[in-house]
Order: sequence, then structure tokens, then C-alpha cells
Amino acid sequence: MTTNARTDLSIPQLRSELAGEVIGPDDPDYDDARRTFMPLYDDRRPAVIIRPADAREVGYVVSLARESGLELAVRSGGHSGAGHSVSHGGIVLDLSLMKGLEIDPGKRVAWAEAGLTAGEVTNATAAHGLAVGFGDTGSVGIGGLTTGGGVGYLVRKHGLTIDDLLAAEIVLADGRVLQVDDQRHADLFWAIRGGGGNFGVVTRFKFRLHPMDTVTGGMLVLPATAETIAGFMAAAGAAPDELSTIANVMTAPPMPFIPEEHHGEVVILAMLVHAGPAEDGEQAIAPFRALATPLADMVRPMPYPEIYPPDDPEYRPVASARNMFVDTIGHAEAELILERLRASTAMMAAAQLRILGGAMARVPVDATAFAHRKSKIMVNLAAIYGSPDEAPVHEEWVTEFAAALRQSDTGAYVNFVGDEGEQAVRAAYPGETWDRLGAIKRRYDPGNLFRLNQNIPPGPES
Ligand SMILES: Cc1cc2nc3c(=O)[nH]c(=O)nc-3n(C[C@H](O)[C@H](O)[C@H](O)COP(=O)(O)OP(=O)(O)OC[C@H]3O[C@@H](n4cnc5c(N)ncnc54)[C@H](O)[C@@H]3O)c2cc1C
Repeated sequence: MTTNARTDLSIPQLRSELAGEVIGPDDPDYDDARRTFMPLYDDRRPAVIIRPADAREVGYVVSLARESGLELAVRSGGHSGAGHSVSHGGIVLDLSLMKGLEIDPGKRVAWAEAGLTAGEVTNATAAHGLAVGFGDTGSVGIGGLTTGGGVGYLVRKHGLTIDDLLAAEIVLADGRVLQVDDQRHADLFWAIRGGGGNFGVVTRFKFRLHPMDTVTGGMLVLPATAETIAGFMAAAGAAPDELSTIANVMTAPPMPFIPEEHHGEVVILAMLVHAGPAEDGEQAIAPFRALATPLADMVRPMPYPEIYPPDDPEYRPVASARNMFVDTIGHAEAELILERLRASTAMMAAAQLRILGGAMARVPVDATAFAHRKSKIMVNLAAIYGSPDEAPVHEEWVTEFAAALRQSDTGAYVNFVGDEGEQAVRAAYPGETWDRLGAIKRRYDPGNLFRLNQNIPPGPES
């Protein structure tokens, strides 16, 4: 257990000892600094927010948390849906000053510091015609995304983000800095590929990069009927590995490229990326265009980084969401999705469907702590609404929707699990994965210092 030996946090003293930034409750930028992507957690007031300059200072902050007994929040991009990027009363270790990036185009590898976002790394590697796959949003931090797994636009072609992770530098609960890979501390390297922030603070990731130039990609909006939804899923499953798709079945937002008469109707707003020659891309996308007359078709050859258009910094949704995996979305499931979305009273309701498989499924299930290699389709259900006061009604809607759609796959992807309790964390780490992670946690963080996360407590002593 941690002790309460050092509760006298002195902001001036911290400032004198650290080259990074130290922000306390009396500072003018405190409110901005404690803010995360999720407005649901805006009422949390940390004792201090520290932005370390380097791995040594990360070790300093980790030791400060250990010695003070204060709760530690580790933040990379601040997109945790579960509220793990900000502590109430504790310390926020914010990595956002650590944006060093060393690209070796010859060896096709990059060392990326954990304060970088998916978009920042993608833009920088694109200058060399190279890429590593992240998720669907540029502002997500590589820290949370990578340690949870990383499912994005290259998942079928190159696998999860962790499938391109070659090594990492990590600060442990006792303040030590380790270099980990397949040879060095292989148990820890296994655990941080899916096990989240439970084992330490990763300060640098070494990624394998793939040649990536122009892709055929963008948004395709189709009318949503049971036929088009089931047809989309069938086409996505039959597509070559080069094509990864994300189908958002959702109420059409009032966007200028969607004809006004369709605003508020349920549509399929799909994002497609074909990472291969343009002619093959056209061919791979043809079956989707043939499902119905598109309401908008912006799929075209484009430089890979354009998959991440600039994010609106003011967009901070209040949401109730559930993640799950399913085996099939056929006609009956599509009917159910349409019925439930139309019944929602939220500002916007969505069922996001991602066909998996391809390279991700060719990695053995026990090769990393991400244990859902054989899952067929990832589903995110979400209601987005105006104020946290409305949460109960939308929580009920999303819980019932998930129960109705559930099939035989009982897993969940940790990076989309909210603040849902132990059962949801167990769903992310089924069977032996849980036991193995618990044993590694006991070895590297026996006091559970890293506990503000989808927590894996230290397993029993063996
Ligand atoms: C709009 C949006 C879109 C998303 N799209 C995708 C997607 O397409 N694919 C996908 O896979 N996920 C996606 N996610 C989920 C996302 O991967 C997780 O929310 C992730 O945890 C966010 O990482 P972050 O660094 O921004 O968050 P943070 O809140 O900063 O971190 C979340 C948690 O990750 C851990 N962590 C962060 N940095 C480190 C580190 N350096 N070392 C150790 N642990 C660390 C900590 O436990 C921390 O509490 C999306 C989330 C949002 C909000």
C-alpha cells in the first residue's frame, strides 16, 4: 500500500524542481489544463497538473504520487471515455509536452514520445511516405490508444497499432525506467500491448512504419435500410484486406454535404480506407456504392493523412456508450438497429460497426494482452446529448440496446469501455489473459499505484 508520507504539495517547490510545467488550482490556466475531451468529468479538480519534460521527470511525478498517496491520473491525449485522464484531488501527469519524434526512414521505424497524437505522428511520418495505423480520430493520444490496442483504418491491412509496436520505454511504479521489447522484460512488453496503463507510464513507443502514400478513402453516406446495412456488412467482410471500413449507422447530422431533407434521418455514414493502388481501391469500393444511390460520396484518392481532418476543439460530446463484439449483422440485426436508433430521444444516436479480420486476426490470440483477435465485428453504441442531467434515460437506452444486440461473443475492447465496473474490465481481458495480466501487475505494480484506469488488480501471490 502507498503511505501518506508526503501530502504537503508545494507548487513553487515543484516548479523549482521540474523543467516541465506545474499548474495548481490558483493558476489562470488551471481550468483549461484539467479539461479533457469528455465534459462529463469537468467537475473534477486535481491538486496539481504536471507536464513533465522528459522520462526522468515522469519518474519524479510517479514517485511523488507513490510517496504522497495521492491518486495519479496519466494523460496522453485526454480522450478517456471513462474519465481516467483527470483525478479529483490527485495528481494529473499530463504528457502533452513530450512530443519528440525520431523517424528513421531507412529502417522504417519511429520512436514517438507519448504526448503525441495520432494525427501528429501520421502527418510527420507521411512526409517520408510512411505510416503506422492508429484509430479514426487525429486528436486521440498515442499513449492511451496504443496501450489499449489501437483499431483503425489499417486494421485489416496491417493489424492493430500494437502489432507494429517493436519496443517501448516505460517508467515503473518504483520510478525505474525500463526499455522493453520481445527480449527485454518480455512479460511487460506483452502486457502493455492491450493491458492499458496498468503497468507504468510509457514515455516512448518504437513503431514499425509501412510505406503509405495515396489511399482511396473518405466518407460515403447511404440511406439506411435493413438491406443496405446488411449489404454493407457483407461487402465489408468480403472486401480485400486493403479495405478497412467504419459504418456509423446514425441520425444524419446537419452537415452541408448531406441533402437537407435527410437531416435527422437514420443513414449509414461510412468511412472507408483502401490502402493500395487507386484502381484496386475503386474496384473495392464499387460494391458499397452499388448498395443504393449515395446521399454523399466523398471517397477519392487522397494522401493518407487526410483521413484525419482537423478536429474541432470545441467538440466535446456528452455521451452514453457501450462497446461489444458480435458475429454477424444480417437483416434481422439491421432491423433491430434501425428500430432502436429511431426510438432514442438523444440529440444523436449511433451504432458504429467495424468489420475486423485480416491482419489483426492472423496474430495469435495470446501474442498480446489484446485478446479479441477472432472477434468478427466491433460495435459501439452511443447516444449523444446536451446535458449530463439527461444521462439516466440514455444509459437505460444504451444498456437495453446492447443486451438486445448481444450474440455469443462476450468480449469488449478496453479502449471503448466506459466507467462500467469490474465486469466490463473482465470482458476486455477474458480467461487466461486476466490471470496473466494479474501476475505481471503483481510483479511490476504490487501497490496498484496505477489504478485510475480499467484496473487490473495485482493477482494472487504464486
Ligand atoms: C472521439 C474518439 C474516437 C476514438 N476512436 C478510436 C479508434 O478509432 N480506435 C481505437 O482503438 N480507439 C479509439 N478511441 C478510444 C481511445 O483509444 C481511448 O479513449 C484511449 O484511451 C484514448 O487515449 P488518450 O491518450 O487520448 O487518452 P487519455 O485519457 O490521455 O488516456 C487514457 C488512459 O490510457 C492510459 N495511458 C495514456 N497514456 C499512457 C501512457 N503514456 N502510458 C501508459 N498508459 C497511458 C492511462 O490509463 C489513461 O488513463 C476513440 C476515443 C474517442 C474519444
